[in-house]
Amino acid sequence: MNILVINCGSSSLKFQLIDMDNESVTAKGLCERIGMDGSRIVYTPGDKDKITIESPMPTHTEAIQVVLDCLTGAENGVIKDLSAIDAVGHRVVHGGEKFAESIVIDDAVIAAIEECNELAPLHNPANLIGINVCKKLMPGVPMVAVFDTAFHQTMPPKAYLYGLPLKAYKEYRVRRYGFHGTSHRFVSKHVAEYLGKKPEDLKTIVCHLGNGASICAVDHGKSVDTSMGFTPLAGLVMGTRSGDIDPAILEYYADKEDISLKQAIQVLNKESGLAGLTGGKSDCRDLEAGYHAGDEDCINAMEIFCYDVAKYVGAYAAALNGVDVIAFTAGIGENSGFVRSKVCEYLGYLGVQIDAEANSQRGDDMTISTPDSKVTVCVIPTNEELMIARDTKELVEA
Ligand code: ADP
Repeated sequence: MNILVINCGSSSLKFQLIDMDNESVTAKGLCERIGMDGSRIVYTPGDKDKITIESPMPTHTEAIQVVLDCLTGAENGVIKDLSAIDAVGHRVVHGGEKFAESIVIDDAVIAAIEECNELAPLHNPANLIGINVCKKLMPGVPMVAVFDTAFHQTMPPKAYLYGLPLKAYKEYRVRRYGFHGTSHRFVSKHVAEYLGKKPEDLKTIVCHLGNGASICAVDHGKSVDTSMGFTPLAGLVMGTRSGDIDPAILEYYADKEDISLKQAIQVLNKESGLAGLTGGKSDCRDLEAGYHAGDEDCINAMEIFCYDVAKYVGAYAAALNGVDVIAFTAGIGENSGFVRSKVCEYLGYLGVQIDAEANSQRGDDMTISTPDSKVTVCVIPTNEELMIARDTKELVEA
């Protein structure tokens, strides 16, 4: 079974064609600058080198058409024609409280996703465009929506309600939703398999540390708390996002800068976090280099980031009343032994002990704690596309 996984952003589109017989990636790529000058597709067919093709993509319709043309092309195609695509899995950012699981897309589902647009105005409309264009270009091919928020729908009210007038929740749907759910679900399941255990037997804390970063407390397979909130701006200090701040800062800062609240939120989203603290460095590799070169801003930024992660792990160890496994994932979590070791230095009181040699390795799934560490600490590469494809296969076959 071939499944096309689509992740449609406002001006970009990522895709993977996955052969579910052996869960291998047949082709993948990225369309960039959709709706702008200079739009192009970067396409990797199978094991071949990636190819960049400049192609006008005024809308997502042309972008998806270009993707389908690449997949079926005479020279670099990987399938004969579109009939080889058995189903399409779409990443959808926000499912609100309507979707606690992935679902086969029909008109009612599309309408329900539309109702969540106001909760994720930058993302959901783009996801819906992807769904509608695929429906048009591949009529009759079953499609599945996989939501970033769904995994966290198991959180109890004590974790998802804010201390606001109840009206905010009841009338305006303001609550903690959490994001990166597909990654947290993949990693929490996969780390259990890797350790030869069942997810239902473990208390796990997943640290998804990328440009966007969030932490999730997973109690016996279910998300019970997570650091992102009503939006992905909350929680940890991130690449360009502030994470948690005193909400009163917003008005104060907007007044001082003579900007609107909307502009101030933009500052929190795009100009804050690690980039804000260092005058523009958001890439962890640059920050690590600056740290070792003695750059004071980089030192502070890295210290703040690792301290933040450690504080959330501590909070979630309390929420779970203990922790069996800590799993690091995403760009920073998978690649930065420096960040992992700095975070784990704070966790000695939990009995965490890191094997420095193991932690310096790079690669696939690995354990970086010592055999006598009270908590097993692992590095697990995330794979949201595969999770989406697995859900799609399961639902379509059912
Ligand atoms: P997102 O999907 O949120 O954009 P990623 O999961 O791709 O983010 O992670 C991007 C982050 O991973 C960047 O901050 C980058 O610096 C970091 N990263 C990638 N490779 C390395 C590395 N070798 N060492 C340290 N950090 C790395």
